[in-house]
Order: sequence, then structure tokens, then C-alpha cells
Amino acid sequence: NSSLHELDPDVAAAVDAELNRQQSTLEMIASENFAPVAVMEAQGSVLTNKYAEGYPGRRYYGGCEHVDVAEQIAIDRVKDLFGAEYANVQPHSGASANQAALFAIAQPGDTILGLDLAHGGHLTHGMRLNFSGKQFNVVAYHVDEGGLVDMAEVERLAKENSPKVIIAGWSAYPRQLDFAAFRRIADEVGALLWVDMAHFAGLVAAGLHPNPVPYADVVTSTTHKTLGGPRGGIILARNKDFAKKLNSAVFPGFQGGPLEHVIAAKAVSFKIAATEEFKERQQRTLDGARILAERLVQSDVTEHGVSVLSGGTDVHLVLVDLRNSDLNGQEAEDRLHEVGITVNRNAVPNDPRPPMTTSGLRIGTPALATRGFDIADFTEVADIIAETLKAPSPFGGSDKDALAGRVKALADKHPLYPGLK
Ligand code: PLP
Repeated sequence: NSSLHELDPDVAAAVDAELNRQQSTLEMIASENFAPVAVMEAQGSVLTNKYAEGYPGRRYYGGCEHVDVAEQIAIDRVKDLFGAEYANVQPHSGASANQAALFAIAQPGDTILGLDLAHGGHLTHGMRLNFSGKQFNVVAYHVDEGGLVDMAEVERLAKENSPKVIIAGWSAYPRQLDFAAFRRIADEVGALLWVDMAHFAGLVAAGLHPNPVPYADVVTSTTHKTLGGPRGGIILARNKDFAKKLNSAVFPGFQGGPLEHVIAAKAVSFKIAATEEFKERQQRTLDGARILAERLVQSDVTEHGVSVLSGGTDVHLVLVDLRNSDLNGQEAEDRLHEVGITVNRNAVPNDPRPPMTTSGLRIGTPALATRGFDIADFTEVADIIAETLKAPSPFGGSDKDALAGRVKALADKHPLYPGLK
């Protein structure tokens, strides 16, 4: 019954250091967020001890009466949140949800059509080394010169290749997809439509982004990005057509015992996601990204070779294009890290630099919005980022110190997890 600090000071020290990092820096990785304390409480609860293979009411273990309640609450809440008739809350992660979804609606060897990884797609949408790329025949669509998904190409490739599944979704794309157009193309060629809303699910829950559920045959998501819950995955569908196949793909297809502690935490996060406070936070997330994009397309920034893919954003992230800059993605990421802003470098479409260096940055606002940042704060963040990217090389000295001081002031203004040590 010892505490973590007593039993294992080495691991406790790493946890403490990570808390300190999150509190003292500005987190702008677009796929990250800060789970509320109540979510972490559920996730750290005794539910971690329970085996519950199967689904509520149909378990392969005794003693599931309480985890059944928590899992059924999660299912009911997420169905309500997104207007879905079917939900599975057991996938351990977004990638697990995607694997189960794809195997439920297609067979190995079938053709799938998804957004190229290098153009903003996800590994699980057909990347060569991923299960999706190894076991399915992958055809990829792309973004056009303006940085928008080329729907004419989607239609052409769909007609040429008759895919079993068309995938709409992304990990690095600053605009909304046209779900109705994807549906029309899928119907034209007899394909199923799978939407992976992992990134923008929180915006959908808040009613600030079109909901893919009415259009898609299956929808997958993570619960820890804009949705702001525990790390995990979900599968939704507008009707029950694939319910049996989806359930059995998750268990016993790919998973054993569900993580009932995480499922309880998902339930808590779905309750939060239905509130006005959550909607207001998602609006600040969007406002922050828009302000950042606006700041980075001003001439004092663009004259340093920095620009923004697609010229702006409709979502929670901005893709910075450094193809014309002396700074590569790695150098830009390092500079921002040095002033206390965490982002990730990201390849831009047709990137001339190698994948470990890249010519881009992906910068997101969900975590800072959760921390309470408002328009004035996001304007200051945008200015700090612009000035960091514009500063002469080598980066350092008083320039860097002044920018780091401004980051610290913002972090101090919005304490994170003040109740935690
Ligand atoms: N789908 C998309 C679109 C993603 O961006 C991600 C995560 O980056 C995933 C799925 C996978 O989620 P996880 O990392 O939980 O496996």
C-alpha cells in the first residue's frame, strides 16, 4: 500500500518531471491535450483490476456488474454526443480502433483508398509498414497545389480502382473535409466510407465542425486529442449494419480484456464534451489556430520564407510551410523548444527535405485552450512563434531569453493542474 513516491522513487521522479514540463512549457502538439483531473481519477481507479472480456451484459467473467454500468454509460453518452446508433468504446487506441474497423468492413487484399501519409494521412490509412499497407492494396489520394484534398483525384482513383473502402480523415490537414462529396463518390463506385475523425472529434462534439456520422458507414476516433479525454479509441456507426462485425473485430478479433478504467474515464470525458463549457473551449481552440495562421501570413513573417499551408485553417491546427525558409522543420522545432513551446516538425506535401528533417511544423491549440488561453493569450503566442521563426541565426542570446520569458509569463498566468504536486 505504499505510495508511488515511497515504492518507486525513480518512476515517481519521471512522473514529477513530466508534470513540471507540462506546467512550465506551452504544449502545442496538435494531437495532445490535458485530461481533466476527474478523467485521470477514473483512469487511475480500481477498475484497472477487472477482467471483463465481452460486452456489457454478455461477459466471460463474473463480477462485472459495476464495470458494466460504467461501460454502458460510456456507450450511451458517446452515441448521444455524435448521433450514432452504434458505439464501441473498447479500442485501446486510435490505431486499434482503425485496425478493428478496417478488418470488420474489408478483407485482406481488398483495395482501400486513403489520403497519402506525406499529404496529411495517418499510418493506419495505408502506410507501407503499417498493417493497413501490408495487408491491403493501397491507393492514395493527395492534396492539390493549394493544399486542399483533390476531390477530382479521389473520384478518378475511385472509378479506376473500385476500392472496397474509401477513408476520409487526417492527422495533418488544416481544413474540413467534404463528407457529402466522399459519400457521393463512395456510392458511385459501391465503396464503403470510413471516416477517421481522431483529430477533429472535439470540434464535432461541440457542433463547430460537420459531423461525419450521418455520412459514413463507420467512424473511428481517438478520445485524447481535441476530445480531451483519456488516451484511447472508439468506433461509431450511424446504424447497426456492421455492429456484429465491428464488435467481434474488437473482441475477440484484436483485443482481449477491455481497459475498464480507461472506459470509465472515456465516459467522464463524454459527459464533459456535452457541456457548454466544452463548446466554449473548442471555440477558443479554433480562434487560437485562426489567429496563429493570420499572424504567420503577415509580410514580416513571409519575407523570411515562412508560410502557412492552404493559407489558413478551419480547425485546431496550422501547418507551417518552411520550404522557402533557411530553417528546416527540425531547426524550427528546436528553436521553439528552446523558448518553451512544444510542437512537432512535419513533412509538407512534396517535401524537398528528408523525413527526419522536413520542411514544416504542425502547431495545434487544443491543449492551450484547455489551459484557459483566450484570444489575447493566443495573439501573444502567435507573436512569440513568429518572432522565434524570424530571429537571425544562430538563435540564442537576448532574443531567445526575452522570448522564453514571455512564454514563462503565459505559463504562469494559466496554472495547469494546480492541485497536483
Ligand atoms: N487516426 C488519426 C487520424 C490519427 O491522427 C491518429 C494519431 O495520431 C490515430 C488514428 C492513432 O491514434 P493512436 O495514437 O491512439 O493509436
